[in-house]
Amino acid sequence: MVIRMSHTEQMNKDWNWVGRYVAVIVVALILAAALGSMDLFAKTFVITGKLSAAHLVRFLGYSTALGALWMLGQRATIDLQQHGGRWSFMQHLILPVVTLIVVSSVNSIALLVLKPMMNASLNSIYNWVFIVAIVACAVWVVMAVLGQSASLTEAFTSAAGRIGTAGKTKVCAACGTSNDATAKFCKQCAKELADTAA
Ligand SMILES: [Zn+2]
Repeated sequence: MVIRMSHTEQMNKDWNWVGRYVAVIVVALILAAALGSMDLFAKTFVITGKLSAAHLVRFLGYSTALGALWMLGQRATIDLQQHGGRWSFMQHLILPVVTLIVVSSVNSIALLVLKPMMNASLNSIYNWVFIVAIVACAVWVVMAVLGQSASLTEAFTSAAGRIGTAGKTKVCAACGTSNDATAKFCKQCAKELADTAA
């Protein structure tokens, strides 16, 4: 027996994976925060006085959450390409935005484990690497917005066009009655209407 899913059910099934990624992100963040605040982790050191197990577990948890966020963005992009419908204009924007968030967050997350090992000059190089990377991501976001402005404009204008056509009328040359733009004959006198919509 074949059970046909309704359109809504099909849509829900298609987007169920979003919930799974969000669950991974939330659980990873909660575990990182909870374990990171435990005395056992805070007072056990990998590098005495500098790098604790709490730093390490936070680093792992936050990295996992960011990894899942980036994969979510990637999957969402592919899904939008295949059957995005009216949201398909988002497909070129999601990945640059998510990458910008990930790169900005990696900056502080990596510091959890790297800071104890870095001197002032290494720290400065580290900062500059991230400044360049973050600016590059920001440029990518702007380029995506500019690149998509054409299809965004198209989406807006086609909607406006449809509304415009709905408002347009054909005025009958014989009796002056306003008819729908798509009407072929006058609803009042039944004379054939000219093709030009006013
Ligand atoms: Zn008429």
